[in-house]
Amino acid sequence: MQLDDALAARLAKVRGYLIDMDGTLYIAGGVALPGAVDFVRALDAQRRPRVVLTNNSSKPGALYVERLGKLGLSVDRAHVLTSGDAAAAWLARESELRRPYVLGTAALSAACARAGLTPTAYADGPDCVLLGYDLDLTYRRLSEASLLVARGLPYYATHLDRTCIDAEGLLPDAGAIAAAIATTNSFMPGGGPLPTVLGKPTSAMLDAGLALLGCGRDETLIIGDQLDTDMTLGVQHGVLCALVLTGETDRAKLAKSAVRPDLVAEDVGEVYAALRGVGALRG
Ligand SMILES: [Mg+2]
Repeated sequence: MQLDDALAARLAKVRGYLIDMDGTLYIAGGVALPGAVDFVRALDAQRRPRVVLTNNSSKPGALYVERLGKLGLSVDRAHVLTSGDAAAAWLARESELRRPYVLGTAALSAACARAGLTPTAYADGPDCVLLGYDLDLTYRRLSEASLLVARGLPYYATHLDRTCIDAEGLLPDAGAIAAAIATTNSFMPGGGPLPTVLGKPTSAMLDAGLALLGCGRDETLIIGDQLDTDMTLGVQHGVLCALVLTGETDRAKLAKSAVRPDLVAEDVGEVYAALRGVGALRG
């Protein structure tokens, strides 16, 4: 990979790593991608701060520790950041809201509780709505969330991906659930509102990741496979970002996009090689 001098100098300063999981370290179905095992081992051996990221708020962080472990990728729970963790941390730190109505799984409610929030039932007077990828969605709970949004409660989401890829086809993700609430509330002035997103690519997710790393923006590298989440997270907030072509993005999609990653690599192994080349990691 050819790096110009300015980029090589920035890359040489990298100390901490924010690394997307699906499509970057492994692909669904559980295969580690080329270079992933060696790269994660090197970060471990060289004691480099690293956090693995996912915008999926439906599963507990511990599940990712187990999933990565089976592939030979060792990461501890404290270094897994889901969009649910980031959203809960943001509400606890940046708002006065403490009683979210959680339209999400038990894992999202648990993330809220860990951050010091109290997930609150409809009848008990929640002070905001937090929407995630809700695999346990029921009509009643969708209705309750919709009514609370219509009442004007502050409204947040862990992410707004419209679909989730499954072996059978595309499934409704958080964005599709939010669309149902927006459609229901389209009578409201200005139309039915969409929630404020707190996962990738927003600063809430970045700040939560940097806090876990203990690194500044100028010494962190984001590695991921998606332009609209992973790379936008870097580009919008001035953090160096490397796109890998092992997941959602191919060269044709990249060529059409306005999002310009700092580096483009075939896989995470090539990113590791570039980091060795500039001395950010030892070989
Ligand atoms: Mg990904």
